[in-house]
Amino acid sequence: MSATIVLPRILEIGAGASANLCAVLQTLGVKTPLIVTDKIMVELGYVERLQKHLDERDMVSDIFDDTVPEPTVASIQAGVDKVRLGQFDCIIALGGGSPIDSAKAIAILGKYGGTMEDYKFPRQVDECGLPIIAIPTTAGTGSEVTKVTVITDEATDEKMMCMGMGFMPSAALVDFELSLSVPARTTADTGIDALTHAIEAYVSKKASPYTDAQALAAIKLIGPNLRIVYRDGNDRTAREKMMLGATLAGIAFSNASVALVDGMSRPIGAAYHVPHGLSNAMLLPTVTEYSISAAENRYADCARAMGIATKDNDDLTACANLLDELNALNRELQVPTPEDFGIDRTVFFNNLETMAAQAIASGSPANNPRQPDAATIMALYKKLWN
Ligand code: NAD
Repeated sequence: MSATIVLPRILEIGAGASANLCAVLQTLGVKTPLIVTDKIMVELGYVERLQKHLDERDMVSDIFDDTVPEPTVASIQAGVDKVRLGQFDCIIALGGGSPIDSAKAIAILGKYGGTMEDYKFPRQVDECGLPIIAIPTTAGTGSEVTKVTVITDEATDEKMMCMGMGFMPSAALVDFELSLSVPARTTADTGIDALTHAIEAYVSKKASPYTDAQALAAIKLIGPNLRIVYRDGNDRTAREKMMLGATLAGIAFSNASVALVDGMSRPIGAAYHVPHGLSNAMLLPTVTEYSISAAENRYADCARAMGIATKDNDDLTACANLLDELNALNRELQVPTPEDFGIDRTVFFNNLETMAAQAIASGSPANNPRQPDAATIMALYKKLWN
């Protein structure tokens, strides 16, 4: 059986990649961009640097810098209005997954109208919005190479998963130098997010030989470097490997889908405002333990790619090492439990049914090697509490 692989038309990867912005715009035949970003990118001077490149080539740009972490329907509206009223021929998405996801939604809503809910899964959004040039600044979501955007409906507290070729950036400039300024907490959260993507893509029922190669390469890059970048954000070698790893993990999961961890993570993020990588981290050991029996050899491969098992270890030993490592990572990267994060136990337990229903509706749990029903998902959520 063949696999469909969707990628950006241009990938520019390595130190200084973002400085090639104008050449990439010229190749794509566009010259009037709206820069969609957040205030931190402005404060860090990253936006000014891009605008300087654009000014030098007489390309007129405008900025929408009001995106928020874990974007909502309301947070993107002003950006949509700006596109509707303006004369932009492309969008430059600069930042972590939140500005990039905001830009993807703005590119479609700005051109075709409607509400975000109209575009949520299971609809496949294959119409072409404004072309997006994505410049990631976190080594995490891989959104620069995924055909996915996640926008929260604040009316229902649902993180809406939206998918289709319409959300695939035309180009991604993957410049690890922009990630040197990411603080330690966000470095940890985004790094575990990328690791989760790679593992879930590899064990997904929709995995293919192509996505397997990307996922294993990502795990090899992320596994040994996550602790290093958490401890020393200025380690350029480790930052470079993490950035490449996150992009490869994005390619892997965009074409193989994520599974149960990501599916269960989004409802936690939406209801309790937990950053996405952090809610993945809270779930990863528990969900992996539940899933291993259905794909022992696949999880064992992940352990070997992380460098915590050798080819001489049998699958059972490798899987045990993987669980130990995921728990150790959470301890070392100081991942809080839901309780430590400040979530109210009673509120969480009263919300289990809704969270399980949202997880299933997103489609991600159906890709898991071991299939949970709603009751099992609720039981797994409960396991996060002692
Ligand atoms: P983020 O974009 O929300 O950024 C987190 C914080 O880090 C923000 O305050 C941001 O300003 C700051 N930051 C980002 N880059 C920085 C830098 N270089 N230096 C200093 N500070 C920096 O975090 P994220 O984890 O990258 O993105 C999370 C969002 O992505 C969520 O909404 C999640 O649902 C979504 N997501 C999307 C996909 C996809 O394929 N589209 C996949 C996974 C997650």
